[in-house]
Amino acid sequence: MSERTLSLKKERNYGKVWLVGGGPGDPELLTLKAMRVLNEADIVLYDSLISEEILAMLPRKCTRIHVGKRCGAHKMTQVDIQKLLVTSASKYQRVVRLKGGDPFIFGRGGEELEYLQKFGIDVEIIPGITAAGGCAAAARIPLTHRHYGNALMLDSGHSQFGEYEPSQNPTRVFYMGVKQAGMITARLLGDGLHESTPVALIINGTLPDQEVLTGVLMDLPNMAQRHTGSGPALMIVGEVAKFASRNQVQAHSEAVA
Ligand code: SAH
Repeated sequence: MSERTLSLKKERNYGKVWLVGGGPGDPELLTLKAMRVLNEADIVLYDSLISEEILAMLPRKCTRIHVGKRCGAHKMTQVDIQKLLVTSASKYQRVVRLKGGDPFIFGRGGEELEYLQKFGIDVEIIPGITAAGGCAAAARIPLTHRHYGNALMLDSGHSQFGEYEPSQNPTRVFYMGVKQAGMITARLLGDGLHESTPVALIINGTLPDQEVLTGVLMDLPNMAQRHTGSGPALMIVGEVAKFASRNQVQAHSEAVA
């Protein structure tokens, strides 16, 4: 933590911020955890995608601010939203930032997390059902199928630079891949991924015995080998995996900073 961060933290006694996924719209697709945190919130900053039904479930006493953005009609800029989150955390103990779907899937949750952490503010992420999962279920489309689809791509059709560009920098998430980590790594390196691409291995994710190991692609086979059999595991390969090392168990000497 930098000196500046420390001094900001000392100057103010900030509350905590929850970045909460509100799911795709159907209020019954909110998680129990999201519901609990919303019920205890002092203030909720919500997006346009949050449905009326969900807003109707917020406790009466909490302050609510619509910071919503829809294409072309931004109510507030992203930077203003981030600043407002910090101001809110300086006034209230329990601040909820409620977003459509999942906060970490095209939700700019990563930017908000980084910004809040600069002030030393405690942040917790509550995932939500992303639009892909919600819409696929609603339309009865299995997103993967043993016979028809063995990978799933969630791509942003919205580019900062105007034109759509097929993704150059995807995050790869491997389910069921731990035993094959050696082969997967070799193929990814062969495909041109750099050996220092950040990776994270998450074992027993969200459970009390969760382990998050971070490293670089070259180390992935070793990391996976040491952890086969200790529970279900997911491998995340891509630049975003470096976020994991900031708050999580740092188990590898070569883990990225
Ligand atoms: N964080 C959100 C995505 C925000 S981007 C998530 O995880 O789902 C906003 C885009 O998500 C919309 O432009 C639309 O493409 C999609 N989306 C969100 N909710 C949706 C819904 N109920 N039905 C269809 N698409 C939806």
